Amino acid sequence: MALFQTMGNIANDPQEKKQIKGDAEKTKVLIIGSGPAGYTAAIYAARANLSPILYQGLEPGGQLTTTTEVENFPGYPQGVTGPVMMEDLKAQAERFGAESRWGIISEVDLSNRPFKAIVDGTKLIEAESIIIATGATAKYLGLSSEEKFKGSGVSACATCDGFFYKGKNVAVVGGGDTAAEEATYLAGLCNKVYLIVRKNYLRASKAMIEKVERTKNIEILYEHTTKEIIGSKVVGGAILDNNGKDVTIEIDGFFVAIGHTPQSQLFTKWIDTDNEGYIKTLSGTSKTNVDGVFACGDVMDSTYKQAITAAGSGCKAALDAEKFISSQE
Ligand code: NDP
Repeated sequence: MALFQTMGNIANDPQEKKQIKGDAEKTKVLIIGSGPAGYTAAIYAARANLSPILYQGLEPGGQLTTTTEVENFPGYPQGVTGPVMMEDLKAQAERFGAESRWGIISEVDLSNRPFKAIVDGTKLIEAESIIIATGATAKYLGLSSEEKFKGSGVSACATCDGFFYKGKNVAVVGGGDTAAEEATYLAGLCNKVYLIVRKNYLRASKAMIEKVERTKNIEILYEHTTKEIIGSKVVGGAILDNNGKDVTIEIDGFFVAIGHTPQSQLFTKWIDTDNEGYIKTLSGTSKTNVDGVFACGDVMDSTYKQAITAAGSGCKAALDAEKFISSQE
């Protein structure tokens, strides 16, 4: 009830009262998040005459805006850059009357309908239904050189960017299933893949470990951590630490696969999540445990994490929301 109390305070405390400007705006569908899931939900909800309002959040366009070329999204035979694809999706949603706005939903109250959401701490929205499409954020190591080469050799998605390293040498960091899967995927494209593992064992499932070990062009570097990624304009190598010794590898691509953080923190007071924070949905649907609240995209998908699967689930969320709203009318 944090928000409810906060809102109570806002209403009662003359100083805090100033924070909320004007009356609550009302909408049938509030979409939170602006990746492929959010915009697809907006396209469908707008075409169903629901006039959805979408808030773009901290990273307008979502994770795809940090990738260069997207070549695996159906309908773009020549590929498309992540930012252009997101602009296309936004324009398509707006064409049908969706309103895409800058702003961050800073609080929600899902205890009763209409649901309440506060934008940037200053504006109150009341929504008949909410579609959560807040995505997930790839974890990075936190090196400044990693930041410098993001989009120029550093990536957190082998399926998105691996193709650009065909025939080249690359490294993958991580010891879980994602790292194992990305390393084997890249091994099919690249000359050589270094798998950089900080412990002396892989945490991945047995089957994945066997697959990695069977793949001839993967070299597992146990007990190695990354000190720096090096290069001039693009990645040219990495300096690793192996129990106090420096080891330099020559690589063109550096893939970080140390996990993702689903952006569900705002909702966990009301919405059920799994141990890792992914929103739980009723099998085959986008329905959460709260009637009228739906989830789509990477915030509820710990497995596929692709733009096209996110878009597909955004479509489901809009169809589920449409059904929900007509059942209430
Ligand atoms: P995990 O949390 O399972 O693994 C993260 C890995 O990254 C660990 O090996 C961890 O090391 C390492 N790591 C974390 N931080 C750092 C760091 N700063 N420096 C170096 N290494 C670091 O994440 P995954 O994304 O691999 O998997 C998430 C979940 O999704 C898991 O449950 C997994 O089983 C599942 N999954 C399933 C797949 C499938 O079934 N096909 C495919 C992909 C994922 P350490 O071991 O030392 O902690």
